Amino acid sequence: MSIEVKNISKSYGDQKALDNISFAIKKGEIVGFLGPNGAGKSTLMKILTTYLTADEGTALVNEQDIINNPKAVQLSIGYLPEHNPLYLDLYVREYLAFNADVYKVAKSRIDEVIQLTGLNTESHKKISQLSKGYRQRVGLANALLHNPDVLILDEPTTGLDPNQLLEIRNVIKNAGKDKTVFLSTHIMQEVEAICDRVIIIDKGKIVADKKLDHLISEDKQQIIEVEFDYKIEEQAIAKIENLVAYKNTHDMTWELTFKAEKDMRPAVFDFANANGLKTLQLNQKNKNLEAIFREITK
Ligand code: ADP
Ligand code: MG
Repeated sequence: MSIEVKNISKSYGDQKALDNISFAIKKGEIVGFLGPNGAGKSTLMKILTTYLTADEGTALVNEQDIINNPKAVQLSIGYLPEHNPLYLDLYVREYLAFNADVYKVAKSRIDEVIQLTGLNTESHKKISQLSKGYRQRVGLANALLHNPDVLILDEPTTGLDPNQLLEIRNVIKNAGKDKTVFLSTHIMQEVEAICDRVIIIDKGKIVADKKLDHLISEDKQQIIEVEFDYKIEEQAIAKIENLVAYKNTHDMTWELTFKAEKDMRPAVFDFANANGLKTLQLNQKNKNLEAIFREITK
């Protein structure tokens, strides 16, 4: 296991931020840690990175115990903290060189992480001159310097505009190819875009822990979007087997929701044929993950 969390609890005064949390993450997994603000995500990440101590329980990172072996744990982890504290007065390269010294990393690695995070064109600038998206890249480059096996990223895309968001997601996916990635977010789409698995936390407790493909298939609902070459009556549509809902979204385009084990696309195609219609488009859409999450956490 890459990360193994065992019965961790943590309180701030009389407020319980984490309540008996346990889970394990395999090497190479990209796991989303999803929960609303105040759920306890940052607290758990700070405990895993040894910046904070738990009241009860422990965790292993790369088989090393966070309590007995904090130094080894720190070497295994690349951490992007929630508010990405950077020294704004330093130049990008200067900042990375400073941290490369701290980690005793070869200077050549600085160019590698600049490359990896797409910082080439900005690497001669002062951090204060960079956009939020590029500042996040500097934080990621910094986390990658010592080539850790595990990346722990606390809300890496919060506050970014839609373009920056897409770019950072790609950087994370790219950098995470040969690593274990544990990233927190309060945005469902984030998990859908990057992760293989999601662990949902609410008020300090884990409320779901699922593989994304399971989450989608367990539900057994499928949404098919179909465009015919001609208008068709609602009554005719309603007769297709296993149909639980339908919507005429555009002229001749319909969104059909089925509850069935089998793929319903052939049935929709046959239906069109039987009614003398041609099928211009036929797409299967996943039920919105956000809807599935709402069902789990309600
Ligand atoms: P998240 O990252 O999911 O938003 P946090 O781990 O930051 O959640 O916080 C969990 C809970 O603990 C929140 O209710 C928060 O207000 C509280 N908390 C976090 N840090 C502190 C602190 N240093 N002192 C007191 N309460 C804190
Ligand atoms: Mg947080």
